[in-house]
Amino acid sequence: MVRGTLYIISAPSGAGKTSLVAALLEAVPDAVVSVSHTTRSPREGEVDGQHYHFVDAERFLGMIEDGQFLEHARVFDHYYGTSRRAVEAELEQGRDVILEIDWQGAQQVRRLMPGCQSIFIVPPSRAALQARLQARGKDSEAVIERRLSEAVQEMSHYPEYDYLVVNDRFEEALEGLKAIFLANRLHTRTQREMHRRLLEDLLASTPANP
Ligand code: 5GP
Repeated sequence: MVRGTLYIISAPSGAGKTSLVAALLEAVPDAVVSVSHTTRSPREGEVDGQHYHFVDAERFLGMIEDGQFLEHARVFDHYYGTSRRAVEAELEQGRDVILEIDWQGAQQVRRLMPGCQSIFIVPPSRAALQARLQARGKDSEAVIERRLSEAVQEMSHYPEYDYLVVNDRFEEALEGLKAIFLANRLHTRTQREMHRRLLEDLLASTPANP
């Protein structure tokens, strides 16, 4: 069994990351998204265990103490974290795991899992970012303002990532993400495990001439 690759995907809110990742999962076999734990309340339509594991601060802090998180961070007044065990189990099964996490979590994961691949998604313009933040219609003006400045802060970390995808046209951005996954699956470090027998066979020495 070839171990899966761990991917980090970060983006400011309003960059369209969630829709892109959903489409990517449809398009790429054997890839899963890690379901994070968070102390924030569910938004309308969010399902516990599917979008997040919604927990209270006490439980979250207990999980930190127990070392249950691969990474964790405080984002917009709430805690978010990735379960170490769940990620490991998927990778061991040969599945690629996507972490939709912020730059703070990304820095922690890069230190712990040097083979991970990280992707940053940006919106096509500042105006588009503002429009997308407003179009959500789920948050107050003050929250939108704050999210905009948090978005700028998040985007300032793009140079730390392996790949940068501009989400201008959805289909093109999706093709870009698919290409990153395909390229990593074709990488020699993956392929040499996947095709061990073939490579051994191809490299077998020819029988000596009588
Ligand atoms: P939201 O509350 O809008 O779902 O997410 C807010 C931010 O938290 C996003 O930037 C998202 O990437 C980040 N986030 C979600 N889950 C995690 C996590 O497990 N760890 C970290 N570090 N950030 C997360």
